[in-house]
Amino acid sequence: CKLNGEVDDCQCKVESLDSLNNDQIYPRMKSLLSRNFFRYFKVNLHKECPFWADDSRCAMKNCAVEMCTQDDLPFGLKEEEDKESENKYIEKAQSEDCPTKADVTLGDIDTTISKESQQAFKDWTKYDDAQETFCELDDDTTGNCDYVDLLLNPERYTGYKGESPHRIWNSIYNENCFKAPDQSGYNSQSLTGMCLEKRVFYRMISGLHASISIHLSHEYLFPASTCYGTEKWGQNMEEFLRRFDHEQTDGRGPQWLKNLYFTYLVELRAIAKAAPYLEEEGYFTGDDEEDNAVKEGVLDLLNVVKQFPNQFDESKLFKGNKKEAQALKEEFRDHFRNISRIMDCVGCDKCKLWGKLQVQGMGTALKILFSGDGMGPQSTVKAGSKQKFQLRRTEIVSLLNAFGRLSSSIHAIEVFRRMIS
Ligand code: FAD
Repeated sequence: CKLNGEVDDCQCKVESLDSLNNDQIYPRMKSLLSRNFFRYFKVNLHKECPFWADDSRCAMKNCAVEMCTQDDLPFGLKEEEDKESENKYIEKAQSEDCPTKADVTLGDIDTTISKESQQAFKDWTKYDDAQETFCELDDDTTGNCDYVDLLLNPERYTGYKGESPHRIWNSIYNENCFKAPDQSGYNSQSLTGMCLEKRVFYRMISGLHASISIHLSHEYLFPASTCYGTEKWGQNMEEFLRRFDHEQTDGRGPQWLKNLYFTYLVELRAIAKAAPYLEEEGYFTGDDEEDNAVKEGVLDLLNVVKQFPNQFDESKLFKGNKKEAQALKEEFRDHFRNISRIMDCVGCDKCKLWGKLQVQGMGTALKILFSGDGMGPQSTVKAGSKQKFQLRRTEIVSLLNAFGRLSSSIHAIEVFRRMIS
């Protein structure tokens, strides 16, 4: 469990990330993500798996996800039956992954909205299409999008194991992660001979996998036993060591943990780059007090994030021959999109929810990193930045929650470290 040294492919030491995260970022994220703007995530858990016949849906009680009713939602997120202002249609369309019925038929209601608003909608669509979208966002064609309260459905041990998750991980690593030419099977993944871009891709997925494994070990459900009469949630050190200990994983576990730090650095950098944009966001939920508190919390977080010096440097990627770099970028994006679609094949709803959210958050980070310099920390575009670059509400929610998961994983490693010593 003793990790130290540099995070591979980054100029940053594990130790400095530990102290940044555990002392400064983790407490801020914990408080921010408990706010209404971030705790309600809109998602479609009913999409069919596009790659193979669905495994039978898991009936384990820990896999169940509790959906929100309209009554549970803050005012600003409710589907408004009778809209007070038609321009709200446009605001909603701009801010959500799952448009309401009204948004979908926007073209049909020309007469009910102003010309200006229609133009805003068209502009938004144009900007959005032009951007580097790395992820399939849920749409509303099936009418199956629902809000989930993430605080009531935490990511933790569910008991989802065996063939179904192995098929998912297998397909992610073997078919959708770039492989070194002489390697086969995710158990023998080697990074030698891979270019930087492909290493980055693999490390990010492995970092996500590590984070999921840490959470399920950190919030594990111990079965009822003679020691404690009923089931009990707690940290499972044995499970953590089985997954990450040097000896028990043929030396690969510590590397997987380092990949978690790598993924953390990539998302940290994306948040820093998007800071001018995030500073402008309204975080609307319909409650002024709450919305102002969220704004303050985001600004406070961004101040810390921006000051961290050793960020991931995305400018090193996709360099060299222009044509080849462009082809590699497209391949990178296609692989990532595929992974977002594989999430619809996860056979446990709770795992699917968090898998979708984290992959979408990662996709949003990539979209930010590869959307040019218009919104970088040096950007002077402030109020105008929203015209150039658009993030939907769901992308902001998933980005911050995904980063929050990585942050909580790094914090959990510290908990396990203390338990050992
Ligand atoms: P797995 O974690 O299934 O790993 C399979 C193989 O991958 C390992 O044998 C190893 O060779 C390799 N590997 C492991 N870790 C890494 C890594 N970090 N980098 C590279 N290679 C690695 N279970 C829950 O209890 N709660 C959840 O919230 C949850 N969410 C999930 C979300 C998704 C998208 C998926 C696909 C699965 C999820 N699971 C969850 C299941 C969980 O990830 C494991 O699959 C399950 O616990 C069985 O673990 P395992 O020991 O067989 O190894």
